[in-house]
Amino acid sequence: MPEPAQAAPVPADALSRDDPFTVDTTYWHALDDGRIQCDVCPRACKLREGQRGLCFVRGRADDRIVLASYGRSSGFCVDPVEKKPLNHFLPGTPVLSFGTAGCNLACRFCQNWDISKSREIDTLGASASPDALAEAAARLGCRSVAFTYNDPTIFLEYASDVADACRARGIKSIAVSAGYINAEPRADFYAHMDAANIDLKAFSEQFYEKVTFAKLGSVQETLRYLHEETSVWLEVTTLLIPGHNDSDAEIAAECAWFAEHLGPDVPLHFSAFHPDFKMRDIPRTPPETLRRARGIALDHGLRYVYTGNVHDPEGQTTSCPGCGKPVVERDWHVLNRYDLTDTGACGHCGHAIAGVFDGPAGDWGAKRRPVTLVEKPGKHGKHDRRPMLTLTPRGDRK
Ligand code: SF4
Repeated sequence: MPEPAQAAPVPADALSRDDPFTVDTTYWHALDDGRIQCDVCPRACKLREGQRGLCFVRGRADDRIVLASYGRSSGFCVDPVEKKPLNHFLPGTPVLSFGTAGCNLACRFCQNWDISKSREIDTLGASASPDALAEAAARLGCRSVAFTYNDPTIFLEYASDVADACRARGIKSIAVSAGYINAEPRADFYAHMDAANIDLKAFSEQFYEKVTFAKLGSVQETLRYLHEETSVWLEVTTLLIPGHNDSDAEIAAECAWFAEHLGPDVPLHFSAFHPDFKMRDIPRTPPETLRRARGIALDHGLRYVYTGNVHDPEGQTTSCPGCGKPVVERDWHVLNRYDLTDTGACGHCGHAIAGVFDGPAGDWGAKRRPVTLVEKPGKHGKHDRRPMLTLTPRGDRK
Protein backbone atom coordinates (compact mmCIF):
# COMPACT_ATOMS: atom_id res chain seq x y z
CA MET A 1 0.00 0.00 0.00
CA PRO A 2 1.42 3.44 -0.89
CA GLU A 3 2.33 5.80 1.90
CA PRO A 4 -0.24 8.57 2.37
CA ALA A 5 0.68 12.06 1.26
CA GLN A 6 3.10 13.65 3.69
CA ALA A 7 3.02 17.37 4.20
CA ALA A 8 6.38 19.12 4.02
CA PRO A 9 7.87 19.64 7.48
CA VAL A 10 6.90 22.99 8.92
CA PRO A 11 9.88 25.36 9.29
CA ALA A 12 11.20 26.02 12.74
CA ASP A 13 9.60 28.70 14.86
CA ALA A 14 11.88 29.30 17.82
CA LEU A 15 12.20 25.59 18.54
CA SER A 16 14.64 25.40 21.45
CA ARG A 17 15.46 22.98 24.25
CA ASP A 18 15.91 26.03 26.48
CA ASP A 19 12.19 26.72 26.24
CA PRO A 20 10.59 25.76 29.58
CA PHE A 21 7.78 23.89 27.80
CA THR A 22 10.10 21.83 25.57
CA VAL A 23 11.21 18.33 26.60
CA ASP A 24 13.26 15.55 25.02
CA THR A 25 11.37 12.53 23.67
CA THR A 26 12.07 8.82 23.17
CA TYR A 27 10.52 7.57 19.93
CA TRP A 28 12.83 8.54 17.07
CA HIS A 29 15.90 7.30 15.22
CA ALA A 30 18.62 8.76 13.02
CA LEU A 31 18.60 8.04 9.28
CA ASP A 32 21.64 7.49 7.07
CA ASP A 33 20.99 10.71 5.15
CA GLY A 34 21.39 12.86 8.25
CA ARG A 35 17.70 13.34 8.94
CA ILE A 36 15.99 12.12 12.12
CA GLN A 37 12.70 10.23 11.89
CA CYS A 38 9.99 10.64 14.50
CA ASP A 39 8.55 7.21 15.30
CA VAL A 40 5.43 8.21 17.24
CA CYS A 41 2.94 7.86 14.40
CA PRO A 42 2.83 6.31 10.93
CA ARG A 43 3.40 9.77 9.42
CA ALA A 44 7.12 9.09 10.07
CA CYS A 45 8.27 12.69 9.69
CA LYS A 46 11.91 12.88 8.61
CA LEU A 47 13.40 16.08 9.91
CA ARG A 48 16.50 18.19 9.53
CA GLU A 49 17.74 20.37 12.36
CA GLY A 50 15.17 22.99 13.32
CA GLN A 51 12.25 21.47 11.41
CA ARG A 52 8.92 20.54 12.97
CA GLY A 53 6.79 17.55 12.03
CA LEU A 54 3.34 17.74 10.50
CA CYS A 55 1.83 17.87 14.00
CA PHE A 56 3.81 21.08 14.64
CA VAL A 57 4.44 20.36 18.34
CA ARG A 58 7.22 17.80 17.77
CA GLY A 59 10.40 18.82 16.03
CA ARG A 60 14.15 18.42 15.84
CA ALA A 61 16.42 20.42 18.11
CA ASP A 62 20.03 19.60 19.04
CA ASP A 63 19.89 16.37 17.00
CA ARG A 64 16.93 14.82 18.78
CA ILE A 65 13.15 14.99 18.59
CA VAL A 66 11.61 17.24 21.19
CA LEU A 67 8.04 17.98 22.28
CA ALA A 68 7.43 21.74 22.42
CA SER A 69 4.05 21.74 24.21
CA TYR A 70 4.77 19.97 27.52
CA GLY A 71 2.72 21.76 30.18
CA ARG A 72 1.05 24.02 27.64
CA SER A 73 -2.67 23.95 26.92
CA SER A 74 -5.19 25.57 24.64
CA GLY A 75 -7.67 25.71 27.50
CA PHE A 76 -9.61 23.79 30.14
CA CYS A 77 -13.29 23.00 30.50
CA VAL A 78 -15.43 20.82 32.75
CA ASP A 79 -17.86 18.79 30.62
CA PRO A 80 -20.17 15.79 31.09
CA VAL A 81 -18.29 12.57 30.24
CA GLU A 82 -21.06 11.84 27.70
CA LYS A 83 -19.67 14.69 25.60
CA LYS A 84 -16.39 12.82 24.85
CA PRO A 85 -18.51 10.73 23.94
CA LEU A 86 -18.40 7.95 26.52
CA ASN A 87 -21.80 6.52 27.49
CA HIS A 88 -20.59 3.54 29.53
CA PHE A 89 -17.86 5.14 31.64
CA LEU A 90 -18.83 6.69 34.99
CA PRO A 91 -22.12 8.04 33.52
CA GLY A 92 -23.22 11.55 34.37
CA THR A 93 -19.92 12.57 35.94
CA PRO A 94 -17.86 15.69 35.20
CA VAL A 95 -14.57 15.44 33.31
CA LEU A 96 -11.82 18.06 33.11
CA SER A 97 -11.15 18.40 29.37
CA PHE A 98 -8.10 19.96 27.82
CA GLY A 99 -5.89 19.90 24.78
CA THR A 100 -2.75 21.48 23.42
CA ALA A 101 -2.29 22.45 19.75
CA GLY A 102 -1.53 20.66 16.51
CA CYS A 103 -2.57 17.26 15.16
CA ASN A 104 -0.99 14.35 13.30
CA LEU A 105 -3.91 14.04 10.89
CA ALA A 106 -5.00 16.66 8.40
CA CYS A 107 -8.74 16.07 8.18
CA ARG A 108 -10.44 18.36 5.71
CA PHE A 109 -13.57 18.32 7.89
CA CYS A 110 -11.83 18.98 11.22
CA GLN A 111 -14.37 20.17 13.83
CA ASN A 112 -11.60 21.62 16.05
CA TRP A 113 -9.39 23.10 13.36
CA ASP A 114 -8.63 26.32 15.25
CA ILE A 115 -6.71 24.15 17.74
CA SER A 116 -5.55 21.23 15.64
CA LYS A 117 -4.17 23.37 12.83
CA SER A 118 -2.87 26.12 15.05
CA ARG A 119 0.58 27.44 14.25
CA GLU A 120 0.19 30.19 16.83
CA ILE A 121 1.79 29.73 20.19
CA ASP A 122 -0.92 32.09 21.51
CA THR A 123 -3.30 29.16 21.21
CA LEU A 124 -1.32 27.61 24.03
CA GLY A 125 -1.93 30.46 26.41
CA ALA A 126 -2.76 28.28 29.42
CA SER A 127 -0.15 26.28 31.27
CA ALA A 128 -0.30 23.56 33.90
CA SER A 129 2.13 21.04 35.27
CA PRO A 130 0.77 17.48 35.59
CA ASP A 131 0.39 17.79 39.37
CA ALA A 132 -1.36 21.14 39.06
CA LEU A 133 -3.78 19.73 36.51
CA ALA A 134 -4.57 16.68 38.63
CA GLU A 135 -5.02 18.92 41.66
CA ALA A 136 -7.38 21.15 39.68
CA ALA A 137 -9.42 18.12 38.58
CA ALA A 138 -9.71 16.98 42.20
CA ARG A 139 -10.75 20.42 43.42
CA LEU A 140 -13.36 20.69 40.68
CA GLY A 141 -14.88 17.32 41.66
CA CYS A 142 -14.02 15.65 38.35
CA ARG A 143 -13.91 11.84 38.24
CA SER A 144 -11.69 11.95 35.19
CA VAL A 145 -9.48 14.06 32.94
CA ALA A 146 -9.81 13.91 29.14
CA PHE A 147 -7.16 14.67 26.51
CA THR A 148 -9.60 15.74 23.90
CA TYR A 149 -9.43 18.98 21.92
CA ASN A 150 -6.58 17.71 19.80
CA ASP A 151 -4.99 14.28 19.55
CA PRO A 152 -2.96 13.25 22.64
CA THR A 153 -0.80 11.00 20.45
CA ILE A 154 1.34 14.02 19.61
CA PHE A 155 1.83 15.09 23.25
CA LEU A 156 1.90 11.63 24.80
CA GLU A 157 4.71 12.45 27.25
CA TYR A 158 2.69 15.27 28.82
CA ALA A 159 -0.59 13.32 28.75
CA SER A 160 1.05 10.27 30.36
CA ASP A 161 2.49 12.36 33.20
CA VAL A 162 -0.87 14.05 33.77
CA ALA A 163 -2.54 10.62 33.85
CA ASP A 164 -0.04 9.36 36.43
CA ALA A 165 -0.64 12.40 38.63
CA CYS A 166 -4.39 11.82 38.29
CA ARG A 167 -4.13 8.11 39.07
CA ALA A 168 -2.33 8.96 42.32
CA ARG A 169 -5.45 10.96 43.30
CA GLY A 170 -7.98 8.32 42.18
CA ILE A 171 -8.90 10.28 39.05
CA LYS A 172 -9.15 8.42 35.75
CA SER A 173 -7.81 9.45 32.35
CA ILE A 174 -9.51 9.42 28.97
CA ALA A 175 -7.86 9.63 25.55
CA VAL A 176 -9.95 10.99 22.69
CA SER A 177 -7.89 10.08 19.66
CA ALA A 178 -7.86 9.13 16.00
CA GLY A 179 -5.79 6.08 16.95
CA TYR A 180 -3.04 6.91 14.44
CA ILE A 181 -0.03 5.82 16.48
CA ASN A 182 2.75 3.26 16.15
CA ALA A 183 2.83 0.08 18.21
CA GLU A 184 5.59 0.90 20.71
CA PRO A 185 4.41 4.38 21.75
CA ARG A 186 0.83 3.06 21.69
CA ALA A 187 1.60 0.42 24.33
CA ASP A 188 3.48 3.00 26.39
CA PHE A 189 0.76 5.65 26.18
CA TYR A 190 -2.30 3.46 26.78
CA ALA A 191 -0.73 1.89 29.86
CA HIS A 192 -1.50 5.26 31.48
CA MET A 193 -5.11 5.52 30.21
CA ASP A 194 -8.35 4.17 31.69
CA ALA A 195 -10.70 4.85 28.78
CA ALA A 196 -10.55 5.87 25.15
CA ASN A 197 -12.87 7.08 22.47
CA ILE A 198 -11.26 6.37 19.11
CA ASP A 199 -12.50 8.01 15.92
CA LEU A 200 -13.08 5.53 13.11
CA LYS A 201 -13.46 8.24 10.51
CA ALA A 202 -14.70 6.06 7.68
CA PHE A 203 -14.31 2.52 6.42
CA SER A 204 -12.31 2.99 3.24
CA GLU A 205 -8.61 3.51 2.67
CA GLN A 206 -9.53 5.96 -0.08
CA PHE A 207 -11.38 8.23 2.37
CA TYR A 208 -8.56 8.03 4.90
CA GLU A 209 -5.90 8.88 2.34
CA LYS A 210 -7.78 11.66 0.56
CA VAL A 211 -9.70 13.29 3.39
CA THR A 212 -7.57 12.67 6.49
CA PHE A 213 -4.13 11.97 4.94
CA ALA A 214 -3.79 8.88 7.12
CA LYS A 215 -4.30 5.11 6.86
CA LEU A 216 -7.34 3.11 7.95
CA GLY A 217 -5.26 -0.02 8.60
CA SER A 218 -3.26 1.71 11.34
CA VAL A 219 -6.44 2.81 13.10
CA GLN A 220 -7.88 -0.71 12.90
CA GLU A 221 -4.69 -2.00 14.53
CA THR A 222 -5.12 0.43 17.40
CA LEU A 223 -8.76 -0.57 17.89
CA ARG A 224 -7.90 -4.26 17.97
CA TYR A 225 -4.96 -3.62 20.28
CA LEU A 226 -7.10 -1.71 22.77
CA HIS A 227 -9.86 -4.31 22.71
CA GLU A 228 -7.72 -7.44 22.76
CA GLU A 229 -4.64 -6.50 24.74
CA THR A 230 -5.58 -3.84 27.30
CA SER A 231 -8.14 -3.13 30.00
CA VAL A 232 -8.75 0.38 28.64
CA TRP A 233 -12.51 0.95 28.31
CA LEU A 234 -13.13 1.52 24.59
CA GLU A 235 -15.86 3.35 22.71
CA VAL A 236 -15.73 4.27 19.02
CA THR A 237 -17.11 7.24 17.08
CA THR A 238 -17.81 7.61 13.37
CA LEU A 239 -18.68 11.11 12.16
CA LEU A 240 -21.01 10.59 9.19
CA ILE A 241 -20.37 13.10 6.39
CA PRO A 242 -23.08 13.28 3.71
CA GLY A 243 -21.92 11.77 0.44
CA HIS A 244 -18.46 10.83 1.77
CA ASN A 245 -18.76 7.94 4.24
CA ASP A 246 -22.50 7.40 4.78
CA SER A 247 -23.48 4.77 2.19
CA ASP A 248 -25.29 1.64 3.37
CA ALA A 249 -22.48 -0.49 1.95
CA GLU A 250 -19.69 1.34 3.77
CA ILE A 251 -21.58 1.44 7.08
CA ALA A 252 -22.39 -2.27 6.76
CA ALA A 253 -18.75 -3.08 6.06
CA GLU A 254 -17.67 -1.11 9.13
CA CYS A 255 -20.25 -2.84 11.32
CA ALA A 256 -19.32 -6.30 10.05
CA TRP A 257 -15.65 -5.65 10.84
CA PHE A 258 -16.59 -4.12 14.19
CA ALA A 259 -18.71 -7.12 15.20
CA GLU A 260 -16.01 -9.58 14.18
CA HIS A 261 -13.02 -7.85 15.78
CA LEU A 262 -14.39 -5.72 18.62
CA GLY A 263 -17.49 -7.76 19.49
CA PRO A 264 -21.03 -6.70 20.39
CA ASP A 265 -20.26 -4.87 23.66
CA VAL A 266 -18.03 -2.01 22.47
CA PRO A 267 -20.28 1.07 22.12
CA LEU A 268 -20.39 2.69 18.68
CA HIS A 269 -21.44 6.31 18.22
CA PHE A 270 -22.61 7.72 14.88
CA SER A 271 -22.40 11.47 15.16
CA ALA A 272 -23.55 14.35 12.97
CA PHE A 273 -21.13 16.44 10.92
CA HIS A 274 -21.46 20.21 10.67
CA PRO A 275 -19.79 22.17 7.86
CA ASP A 276 -16.33 23.28 8.96
CA PHE A 277 -12.72 23.96 7.92
CA LYS A 278 -12.20 22.82 4.29
CA MET A 279 -15.58 21.09 3.92
CA ARG A 280 -17.97 24.00 4.37
CA ASP A 281 -19.81 23.10 1.17
CA ILE A 282 -21.13 19.85 2.66
CA PRO A 283 -24.51 20.04 4.44
CA ARG A 284 -25.12 18.92 8.02
CA THR A 285 -25.81 15.23 8.50
CA PRO A 286 -29.58 14.62 8.49
CA PRO A 287 -30.79 12.85 11.66
CA GLU A 288 -32.30 10.19 9.42
CA THR A 289 -28.80 9.22 8.25
CA LEU A 290 -27.74 8.60 11.85
CA ARG A 291 -30.84 6.52 12.52
CA ARG A 292 -30.21 4.51 9.34
CA ALA A 293 -26.62 3.81 10.39
CA ARG A 294 -27.73 2.81 13.88
CA GLY A 295 -30.22 0.37 12.38
CA ILE A 296 -27.50 -1.24 10.27
CA ALA A 297 -25.25 -1.60 13.33
CA LEU A 298 -28.03 -3.16 15.41
CA ASP A 299 -28.74 -5.57 12.55
CA HIS A 300 -25.08 -6.65 12.78
CA GLY A 301 -25.56 -7.59 16.41
CA LEU A 302 -23.95 -4.58 18.08
CA ARG A 303 -25.68 -3.99 21.43
CA TYR A 304 -24.79 -0.41 22.25
CA VAL A 305 -25.17 1.94 19.28
CA TYR A 306 -25.83 5.65 19.70
CA THR A 307 -26.53 8.74 17.63
CA GLY A 308 -24.73 11.96 18.56
CA ASN A 309 -24.84 15.72 18.02
CA VAL A 310 -28.63 15.56 17.59
CA HIS A 311 -31.70 15.28 19.81
CA ASP A 312 -32.70 11.64 19.40
CA PRO A 313 -33.94 10.04 22.64
CA GLU A 314 -34.40 6.61 21.03
CA GLY A 315 -30.92 6.63 19.49
CA GLN A 316 -29.37 7.67 22.79
CA THR A 317 -31.03 5.03 24.96
CA THR A 318 -29.22 2.02 26.40
CA SER A 319 -31.40 -1.09 26.47
CA CYS A 320 -30.55 -4.11 28.56
CA PRO A 321 -29.36 -7.03 26.38
CA GLY A 322 -30.85 -9.38 28.99
CA CYS A 323 -34.47 -8.24 29.27
CA GLY A 324 -34.67 -5.62 26.51
CA LYS A 325 -35.92 -2.86 28.80
CA PRO A 326 -34.48 0.67 28.60
CA VAL A 327 -32.04 1.23 31.45
CA VAL A 328 -30.39 4.56 30.57
CA GLU A 329 -32.20 7.27 28.63
CA ARG A 330 -30.33 10.35 27.44
CA ASP A 331 -31.13 13.53 25.60
CA TRP A 332 -27.90 14.76 24.04
CA HIS A 333 -25.58 14.72 27.12
CA VAL A 334 -28.25 14.66 29.85
CA LEU A 335 -29.29 11.49 31.67
CA ASN A 336 -33.08 11.28 32.04
CA ARG A 337 -33.63 7.69 33.20
CA TYR A 338 -31.01 5.64 35.04
CA ASP A 339 -31.99 2.10 36.05
CA LEU A 340 -28.57 0.57 36.74
CA THR A 341 -27.13 -0.60 40.01
CA ASP A 342 -23.93 0.94 41.37
CA THR A 343 -21.94 -1.78 39.58
CA GLY A 344 -23.73 -1.37 36.25
CA ALA A 345 -26.26 -4.23 36.42
CA CYS A 346 -29.74 -3.87 34.94
CA GLY A 347 -32.16 -2.70 37.62
CA HIS A 348 -34.87 -4.96 36.15
CA CYS A 349 -33.16 -8.31 35.53
CA GLY A 350 -29.62 -7.96 36.92
CA HIS A 351 -27.86 -8.47 33.58
CA ALA A 352 -24.42 -6.82 33.58
CA ILE A 353 -24.12 -3.85 31.21
CA ALA A 354 -20.65 -3.56 29.66
CA GLY A 355 -18.69 -0.56 30.91
CA VAL A 356 -17.06 1.06 33.94
CA PHE A 357 -19.56 1.83 36.69
CA ASP A 358 -18.66 2.87 40.20
CA GLY A 359 -21.52 4.08 42.35
CA PRO A 360 -24.63 6.00 41.38
CA ALA A 361 -24.78 8.07 38.21
CA GLY A 362 -23.46 11.62 38.43
CA ASP A 363 -25.71 14.64 38.06
CA TRP A 364 -23.42 17.00 36.14
CA GLY A 365 -26.03 17.42 33.40
CA ALA A 366 -25.19 19.32 30.20
CA LYS A 367 -23.12 22.07 31.80
CA ARG A 368 -19.94 23.16 30.11
CA ARG A 369 -17.79 25.17 32.49
CA PRO A 370 -14.65 26.82 31.12
CA VAL A 371 -11.90 27.03 33.73
CA THR A 372 -8.78 29.16 33.85
CA LEU A 373 -5.75 27.73 35.63
CA VAL A 374 -3.25 30.35 36.73
CA GLU A 375 0.25 29.24 37.65
CA LYS A 376 3.46 31.07 38.26
CA PRO A 377 6.94 29.57 38.17
CA GLY A 378 8.27 27.94 41.31
CA LYS A 379 11.91 27.79 42.33
CA HIS A 380 12.73 24.18 41.51
CA GLY A 381 13.35 23.81 37.81
CA LYS A 382 11.59 24.64 34.60
CA HIS A 383 8.47 22.50 35.21
CA ASP A 384 7.92 23.63 38.80
CA ARG A 385 4.79 25.75 38.47
CA ARG A 386 2.60 24.04 41.04
CA PRO A 387 2.55 26.30 44.08
CA MET A 388 0.64 29.22 42.62
CA LEU A 389 -2.30 27.31 41.19
CA THR A 390 -5.62 29.14 41.32
CA LEU A 391 -8.85 28.23 39.56
CA THR A 392 -11.01 30.79 37.85
CA PRO A 393 -14.26 29.38 36.54
CA ARG A 394 -15.44 31.54 33.68
CA GLY A 395 -19.13 30.88 34.21
CA ASP A 396 -21.61 28.26 33.10
CA ARG A 397 -22.93 27.87 29.64
CA LYS A 398 -24.54 25.06 27.78
S1 SF4 B 1 3.98 12.57 15.91
FE1 SF4 B 1 4.20 14.46 14.69
S2 SF4 B 1 6.39 14.59 14.19
FE2 SF4 B 1 5.99 12.50 14.89
S3 SF4 B 1 5.63 11.32 13.00
FE3 SF4 B 1 3.61 11.98 13.77
S4 SF4 B 1 3.17 13.95 12.74
FE4 SF4 B 1 5.37 13.51 12.48
